[in-house]
Amino acid sequence: MEKVVVVHYSEIATKGKNREFFEKKLLSNIRRATKARVRRRYGRMEVEYKDGVVERLRKIPGIRYLGVGLKTSLEMDEIKESALEVLPSSFTSFKVDTSRSNKNFPLNSVEINREVGRHLMVKTGKKVDLKSPDVIIWIEICDKEAYVYSERIEGVGGLPVGVAGKVVSLISGGIDSPVAAFMMMKRGCEVVLAHFFNQTMHSPKVREKIRMLAEKLAEYQGEIKLYMVPFQDIQMEIIKSTPPKLRMIVYRRSMMRMANLIAEKEGCKAVVTGDSLSQVASQTLENINVVYSSSRLTVLPPLIGMDKEEIVNLAKKIGTYEISIMPYEDCCSFMIARHPETRAKIEEIVNYENFDELEERAVEKSEIVEVKVF
Ligand code: ATP
Ligand code: MG
Repeated sequence: MEKVVVVHYSEIATKGKNREFFEKKLLSNIRRATKARVRRRYGRMEVEYKDGVVERLRKIPGIRYLGVGLKTSLEMDEIKESALEVLPSSFTSFKVDTSRSNKNFPLNSVEINREVGRHLMVKTGKKVDLKSPDVIIWIEICDKEAYVYSERIEGVGGLPVGVAGKVVSLISGGIDSPVAAFMMMKRGCEVVLAHFFNQTMHSPKVREKIRMLAEKLAEYQGEIKLYMVPFQDIQMEIIKSTPPKLRMIVYRRSMMRMANLIAEKEGCKAVVTGDSLSQVASQTLENINVVYSSSRLTVLPPLIGMDKEEIVNLAKKIGTYEISIMPYEDCCSFMIARHPETRAKIEEIVNYENFDELEERAVEKSEIVEVKVF
């Protein structure tokens, strides 16, 4: 018997010819995150149990769930003994749930459930409850070995980071954009972050806050690159050239163009934002059209159809919420109108734009922060 973590992934299994590529990516991501021995076994991964391994694995995109327990031989005696061993110290009822990929095993799943169940009843005096047991003992019968565990932990789901290519994700200090970045990681993207800030008015606290968000997001991806782009020169130009009502659209188009410049440097294939349709004035369909049309690359807004409440719940789940609600001065609120334009027209907007050089210079002057968790 050996203590191990069994890693299950679902969606990868459906990817046909790409399966090999996806599995190898997941394997190398797990190795990098855990520094533990990892093996591909029968459509699962088997990870050597070490301190901290479970905490790391529960944040790796591409993992559906983990089983923390024992690896045993295919001897029924050893399987029964393991089942006893993985039981928690206190419980009143249990059930055994076996899956059998090894069709040559002499007993079928129902027979295994019965035999192990009987053994546990005799040894512990506890009762079987098939409907709502306190504990489930999972048994997986594979070709050369079996896994037995009672601790099953949900993973992030999705696909391994790196299988879908790179994106640049625009991150503000708000609740939404960190969630958007996370959602792209979960779809297999490697995320590069870009934050635009006003150097002359931002306190070190803002810088710290963005860094903390980057660090939290890096727990899912391993490491993350953050571009801190100084935005004040462009803001000054916008204030000079553009009526307050339209400034918000103009500055967001400018951010979009700079995101494209960063994407070029980093080899990113799309730009990601935290926009959610109609949530605020900048996010009407009209304004979204005008803002996104300044991007050469496709713009992906993964939160577009989500309610605020759903976004907040996800932010809490991934651990960015507590950081996002820390006090923060928005880089641009001082320069926009109280009632910004909600139906911007592109013909009008382009008259106010002439910042190409300033934008190039701002990206050149970016401070690049590299955060590494594993
Ligand atoms: P968030 O909660 O992410 O701040 P929001 O609902 O406040 O979003 P806006 O302020 O309109 O919406 O911003 C929309 C999106 O534009 C953000 O989700 C983010 O992707 C991007 N964005 C806004 N401000 C910045 C900034 N200073 N730096 C980088 N990206 C930004
Ligand atoms: Mg915001």
